[in-house]
Amino acid sequence: MVPAAIIATKRDGGELLPDQIESMIQGFVAGQVADYQMTAFAMAVLLRGMSRTEISALTQAMLHSGVSLPRVSDRPRVDKHSTGGLGDSTSIVLAPLLACFDLEVPMLSGRGLGITGGTLDKLEAIPGYRCNLSVEEIGIQLRKVGCVITGTTPDIAPADRRLYALRDVTATVESVPLITASIMSKKLAETLDYLILDVKFGSGAFMATLEQAKDLASSLMDIGQRGNVQTRALLTDMYQPLGRMVGNACEINETLDMLQGNIDGRLADVTLALCAELLVMAGKQTNVDNAIDVLKKEITSGRPLARLQQMIEAQGGKFALSYPLADATEIGATSEGYIESINGRLLGQAIIELGGGRKIAGEAINHSVGIEMLVSLGDYVSPGQPLVRMFNDDSDTQPASIASDLIRTAFHFSNSAPSPSRLIQR
Ligand code: URA
Repeated sequence: MVPAAIIATKRDGGELLPDQIESMIQGFVAGQVADYQMTAFAMAVLLRGMSRTEISALTQAMLHSGVSLPRVSDRPRVDKHSTGGLGDSTSIVLAPLLACFDLEVPMLSGRGLGITGGTLDKLEAIPGYRCNLSVEEIGIQLRKVGCVITGTTPDIAPADRRLYALRDVTATVESVPLITASIMSKKLAETLDYLILDVKFGSGAFMATLEQAKDLASSLMDIGQRGNVQTRALLTDMYQPLGRMVGNACEINETLDMLQGNIDGRLADVTLALCAELLVMAGKQTNVDNAIDVLKKEITSGRPLARLQQMIEAQGGKFALSYPLADATEIGATSEGYIESINGRLLGQAIIELGGGRKIAGEAINHSVGIEMLVSLGDYVSPGQPLVRMFNDDSDTQPASIASDLIRTAFHFSNSAPSPSRLIQR
């Protein structure tokens, strides 16, 4: 294998053979393909694309660069992957809720990426919660509790870990083939039976348009099926934060609220729709509408909350019904009118300014900061009406003033009500 020849084939728009892709990834992990060669390869893929056969070969090569989670019971194994968006804490409700239906949920999650929060960062708002379980510990917890939310271990898809670190700093993240192989190598390593994808589009999402989201969803579903995991996708709107709360402890508190029976709003709608798809796929329910009713009843029984408590305690966390937030200040509207758009990127940047996300890799974050949305798209507001409650320890600091400006700029007003958009598309 000559790495430069493989890179040149892709650079010139050629199709690579599965063996060539496999030897490139094996060579990378073994140190025979240098970082600069892998980066050139990633850029060639970003510019020229890949066929589905090539994406499948790349995914399988990355999957087999490490270990997979062994089966520990006969229960169907399910998971969800979200492409990430503001105020998206669906995972924290979904895992314990589905475990109550005798499904096994081995969720390997990530940290914040860009402006979007990460499930692991949110869970670390819980004192003591461990996100670094080993493969053995994951197996023990799955047997005992039925669900786990932890980070990928160093021995799961190590090729993805190394390639992702290079992509992050070489402008090669935004490629459907590379995103697909990265996500699916980790999901296939969970040895799943059923996978639901929540592919988001809009100003607060990775994929800005519905068309881009459809393209990514189709690629992810195809690679799931080729990997023998029954995979479906929902496309969900991210033109405003999904939940009312955005930020780490803020979002944990909102999920605890939902599990105590507060099942209204966009976050609940998306969470229930994702869970319902999995219940139908796993043969536990015959249709999505019935499944949603059954899921709501299960939440009101209190069992999913108890299961979340079991999961948190099994991972070393101290369970509470709410976690402390920083002091609150309200930010008011500067003009009057209907809220026409909310720029999710600016809200995400505001959270980072407050210290709730990272400016540089590995930075510590402040879990108690965040925002609470007091209005939604299409609401009519008058000048001075509070738009957002901002949680921040000291409102006189420069970061707080930058964050407030970003939040104010994120809202656009109009004289006429915008047409409502559909939250979920199949
Ligand atoms: N999430 C991943 O795990 N990988 C990507 O490439 C993008 C998002």
